[in-house]
This record gives sequence, structure tokens and C-alpha cells, in this order.
Amino acid sequence: MSEIDRRINAAIGRLERLATKMPTAIDALLDERRKIDGWGSGGGVRVQHSAELTPTEAPVDRRLDIDRRIANLFDELDAIRKIARNVEADCDRYIAVTTPVLEEPKPRCDGGIGRTGYLEWGDPGCVNIPESYRKQCSKCRKAEDRWLVAHGERRHIGNDV
Ligand SMILES: [Zn+2]
Repeated sequence: MSEIDRRINAAIGRLERLATKMPTAIDALLDERRKIDGWGSGGGVRVQHSAELTPTEAPVDRRLDIDRRIANLFDELDAIRKIARNVEADCDRYIAVTTPVLEEPKPRCDGGIGRTGYLEWGDPGCVNIPESYRKQCSKCRKAEDRWLVAHGERRHIGNDV
């Protein structure tokens, strides 16, 4: 097992334990929250002379504390997921740096296939880049021009039909 596999498996094991422990922990917190006496157990309203909470404030504060602990568990879980996502993004970036990007296949001269007299002047194996707005390269176009002039199909070389 590679070092990476060992560490990934350890992380997966930890997450699997969390998958069972977190719901149980949240249930325990919710259970604790439900047991909080809405009006406190002291009874009566005491005059406050300190930072101490009133019997009404105390249970509210305890409930808020439990809510914060539950929210914190979800935040921590989100943080784990974000860290994993960032590590994955780093890997993707490093992979992209070392893997050559596949280029768009360059257009290839059609060698004049199908054009008048192409069996004589054309070059089906031509791999030159075609001229702008044409399917042929300049070499094949010139060969076609010469053939057309030589066979009376065109009066001057370079005179587009
Ligand atoms: Zn060509």
C-alpha cells in the first residue's frame, strides 16, 4: 500500500466513523435541548445584580449554546469537504501543468479531391495547411491553376473562377 493510499484510507476511516457518530451526537444534543426546562428550575424572578442570567434567559442561552454546537459540527463537516475540494483542485492544476493540452486538429488540405482534373494535378496525401477560406493549400491550388490553364479551362494562372 502506498503512502498516499494509507493516508487516504485513514481519512476515509475517520469520515466513516463521523458518518455514524455525528447523527448520534446531534441526537444527544437535541435530546439535551429538549430537556431544558423552559422557565428554568429555580422558579421565581430574581433581581439581577450581576452578569448572571435570569431564570428566563438561562434556558434560552443554554438552547442557543446547543444550537451553536450543532451548527459548529455542520460547519466543521463543510470545512473538511472544502479542504478535500481544494486538495483536488491543486491536483487538477498540477495534472494540467504536466499533461499536454490536446490541440484542436489542424485543418488539412483536401488535395483537390473532386475538383476538375484532380486525378492529374491533385495530391490526396497532401497534409499542408489550407489557405484562408479554401480547402486546399497554396501548392495544390497552384498545381490546379497550372492544370486548368494547360487544359484551356482557365486563361491565366491565379485567375479565380
Ligand atoms: Zn495541398
